[in-house]
Amino acid sequence: MKLAFIGLGQMGAPMARNLLKAGHAVTAFDVVAEHVAALAADGATPAHSLAEAVAGAELVLTMLPSSPHVRSVYLGADGVLAHVAQGVPLIDSSTIDPHTAREVAAAAAARGNPMADAPVSGGTGGAKAGTLTFMVGAPTALYERIKPLLGAMGRNIVHCGDSGTGQVAKICNNLLLGISMIGVAEAMTLGAKLGIDAKVLAGVINTSSGRCWSSDTYNPFPGVLADAPAARGYSGGFATDLMLKDLGLAADAARQAKQPVALGALAQQLFQMASARGLGALDFSAIIKLYEGSAA
Ligand code: NAD
Repeated sequence: MKLAFIGLGQMGAPMARNLLKAGHAVTAFDVVAEHVAALAADGATPAHSLAEAVAGAELVLTMLPSSPHVRSVYLGADGVLAHVAQGVPLIDSSTIDPHTAREVAAAAAARGNPMADAPVSGGTGGAKAGTLTFMVGAPTALYERIKPLLGAMGRNIVHCGDSGTGQVAKICNNLLLGISMIGVAEAMTLGAKLGIDAKVLAGVINTSSGRCWSSDTYNPFPGVLADAPAARGYSGGFATDLMLKDLGLAADAARQAKQPVALGALAQQLFQMASARGLGALDFSAIIKLYEGSAA
């Protein structure tokens, strides 16, 4: 299939590489020329504009930082909708607010292009390994049509419902993830301060009722897990500033729905504090550094 892939960052580049490996012809575009060149070296056709990227494409995928980027890439005067052929399906895998996802999908539908929101979970490791979870918001017919293609980049392809529901699932998951990471950081640093070995404590938690992904797969306490970001100075992984963005999306959506997210609001402020202290580019498990001076 002839694909256009737009947004070749930490996630987009490995996802596009998996599509190349699966035998698709990928035309790649990013505003950063080096990102395009790197993918071209792996077999993609380089594009120098959105118009060039979508010319002749049978399907378009985007993996962009946030809502304003998605809005401008699709709805801009020289954007995707201005150039893509009618009927070509569009998939946006960026994490954005559900309202924008629905608005862009409605604009696409009005031009005759079915559009799915398909944000992902699984991080940069999952993007490289092709084991991402896709949370898809789309009419059933479109979901069935794009499922095999998403299968080249992911292991779990979940139909969440109509347009926007993929983003709803994603921001609710990340709301919980942000909160649980802070909880684990707090419990681990308290335990260390009170004199228990961090690995022993993690072992107890991970076989007890406090167990969660933040404790057993991504523990923020240095020395507990050999392959977690905590073992490499919190480099790589999922940036604190991206978690902060996702908690902002959840808070905005909650405000619109008049639904309380008390712990989410507190988590947002703590990640804001981490970002203000210069931790924004580090993995979000670096939130444990807020407890530094105590034990971590
Ligand atoms: P990133 O910043 O590394 O990549 C985004 C890319 O989009 C960059 O290469 C940037 O140059 C490009 N871009 C920006 N504006 C553009 C435009 N107008 N036209 C073309 N390209 C443009 O971000 P990422 O880590 O790859 O994340 C992408 C999305 O996936 C985000 O919404 C993020 O929240 C989500 N996500 C990230 C992770 C993770 O672990 N990094 C995990 C799950 C979901």
